[in-house]
Amino acid sequence: MLLSNKRALVTGASRGIGAAIARTLAAEGADVAITYEKSAELAAGVVREIEALGRRGTAIQADSADATAVRASVEKAVAFLGGIDILVNNAGIFHMGPVKDAALADIDAILNVNVRAPVIASQAAILHLGQGGRIIHIGSWFAEQVQWPGLSIYAMSKSALASFTKGLARELGPEGITVNLVQPGAIDTDMNPAAGPLSELIRQPIAVGKYGSGEDIAHAVAFLASAKAQYITGTALTVDGGMLA
Ligand code: NDP
Repeated sequence: MLLSNKRALVTGASRGIGAAIARTLAAEGADVAITYEKSAELAAGVVREIEALGRRGTAIQADSADATAVRASVEKAVAFLGGIDILVNNAGIFHMGPVKDAALADIDAILNVNVRAPVIASQAAILHLGQGGRIIHIGSWFAEQVQWPGLSIYAMSKSALASFTKGLARELGPEGITVNLVQPGAIDTDMNPAAGPLSELIRQPIAVGKYGSGEDIAHAVAFLASAKAQYITGTALTVDGGMLA
């Protein structure tokens, strides 16, 4: 197993990519705390799946838009797990529409959840991470190419994670902590359903011709979280079925 007895916190893991990451880290031997905003029952289901894999799990309600709640969620995870080795900043929200029409509340929500929360969670986790620690952000292929109009604000929020990843990797490298970014392509979740109204358009540029699954992202995260990835830091791994090829 890649992650025997490691302790991980995955944000936004009641469903979708985060839930797949939580299950996969547990299957690789980690105890896993997750956060969610609204889906308490789904989050409890993910915890049961972690436990069924023989690992400890807990679900923490924490709105990523709330800085105090984000900080507290890291402390609660550390208390439950007895420390932390891996932080996965996965929680994110999508926004689509022309910049001229974007409401201030929507701009604030995107920046707070997609950018500020990963910074705050990292800041809180750094106090507890030791040698071999891992921070992994979940970005988006839109940070590399904004293929269609209406994605400016969301894409900006994800490209912010790329430079944050590089800077933080330099800060934490001397302490033996790596920081990386995984950039999913089109992954079949509630956010981007493979049978949704835009899915035919989205599928066209994908080299392998189909959507990916949460597990496709989760396996990349598990590898980057493992000791095998000790020399990989400050970089982005795009997992997109060749969308950008
Ligand atoms: P989903 O919308 O399917 O799931 C989002 C998850 O994040 C849920 O568990 C949700 O919790 C949680 N979440 C949302 N907002 C908050 C919040 N304010 N506070 C705490 N938790 C929150 O998204 P995906 O699984 O598709 O996306 C996961 C990540 O991957 C995001 O960062 C997204 O931007 C990124 N991504 C996704 C792609 C895709 O094609 N699906 C492509 C590229 C990037 P709850 O259930 O409680 O609402």
